[in-house]
Amino acid sequence: TSVQNITILGATGSIGQNTLDVIHRHPERYRVHALSGHSNMTQLARDVDRFAPDVVIVPTAERRKELLDRLSRPAPEIRTGEQALVDVAGSSDADAVMAAIVGAAGLESSIAAARAGRKLLLANKESLVVAGRLLMEAVQAGGATLLPIDSEHNAIFQCLPEGRVQSGVESVLLTASGGPFRDASMEQLIHVTPDQAVAHPNWSMGRKISVDSATLMNKGLELIEACWLFGLQPSDIEVVIHPQSVIHSMVRYVDGSVIAQMGAPDMRTPIAYGLAYPERIASGSDRLAFNELLSLNFDQPDRERFPCLRLAEEAFDAGGTAPAILNAANEETVAAFLEGYIGFTDIGRINEAVLCETEHQQVHSVEQLRAVDQMARECCRSLVAKFGV
Ligand code: NDP
Ligand code: MG
Repeated sequence: TSVQNITILGATGSIGQNTLDVIHRHPERYRVHALSGHSNMTQLARDVDRFAPDVVIVPTAERRKELLDRLSRPAPEIRTGEQALVDVAGSSDADAVMAAIVGAAGLESSIAAARAGRKLLLANKESLVVAGRLLMEAVQAGGATLLPIDSEHNAIFQCLPEGRVQSGVESVLLTASGGPFRDASMEQLIHVTPDQAVAHPNWSMGRKISVDSATLMNKGLELIEACWLFGLQPSDIEVVIHPQSVIHSMVRYVDGSVIAQMGAPDMRTPIAYGLAYPERIASGSDRLAFNELLSLNFDQPDRERFPCLRLAEEAFDAGGTAPAILNAANEETVAAFLEGYIGFTDIGRINEAVLCETEHQQVHSVEQLRAVDQMARECCRSLVAKFGV
């Protein structure tokens, strides 16, 4: 087989860096076509020097200059702006696009890659939460191959024949580590600091998803993601707390079989799966050591202490723009928490208030969703100012 060209959007982040790590192990299979970064030009310059992509995308002319100042090898083509992300995502110069931008900012490029019929390796779960129907329609219309990179969804995909829910599937078991505050009391949760919240017990991830993991909003977003990816309803999904993060998710069949996918908690495993699908390649992940007292525990999620999970279920049931509103609110509250403006438990409270106070509509376009996203952020910011310390 010939060398495949890979585009990585959000290359400077946690998923982006893990993707480059897998790619560098297989120079005979992959080369980097394009990389995007947003603020971290030091990391981007290092990766551009190392992987010599054809194209680099940065947000502004200032960032372009910063990048150029840091490069030690000849500069590739550098494009700027959001439209450049969309154009490169849809370009036929790449065989696969890793969508690893964080948040709703990744929506347009995910849709562009789908519409253009690329192989879309989707880490950016927010695009499915915000625009699940539009993104799945774009995948259909473009004939794209959509491979979930989120570890739970990648696990579910692996536990299903051809990656699809067919007759005989009873339910999907979505596992959750429970985050760093799994056993914390309500009172303790009030005093949680940003540093404690981003210190995840099992996974090393970007700051936003680490906070989502601590509030269980991540599991809520993943529940919505699973509904769109596999054509399920929330009632088809059982959320199971599994503190070791060894089982990445499971599928329950009507005959009593439960199929699980296991591995060390290392995103390079689902990334390698997505890159090589349907083949398998080495990822650099540790082997699971079954002889080292590997124990597996399971528990129920607590929707009282972690209301964000319940909010996501309610938003999906409400449908239309409700999940997009919840996602926008959550991006704002997480940022406000990380900056010290609100407390940990305010995240859920304010998310709920935004979801209640805003009007939900039917979804008809990405432009509409962009406007709804802005409106929800404004509503959220005024609540942050009111609730804030
Ligand atoms: P990071 O915060 O580590 O990285 C985010 C990436 O997006 C960076 O390259 C960042 O650039 C870029 N970026 C940030 N804001 C914008 C913007 N407005 N426009 C364009 N690019 C932007 O996040 P993660 O890698 O942790 O997560 C990426 C996605 O993958 C998220 O959707 C997350 O939910 C999902 N995911 C992550 C997992 C993980 O283990 N990390 C696991 C499962 C899913 P820069 O850093 O240069 O500013
Ligand atoms: Mg996940």
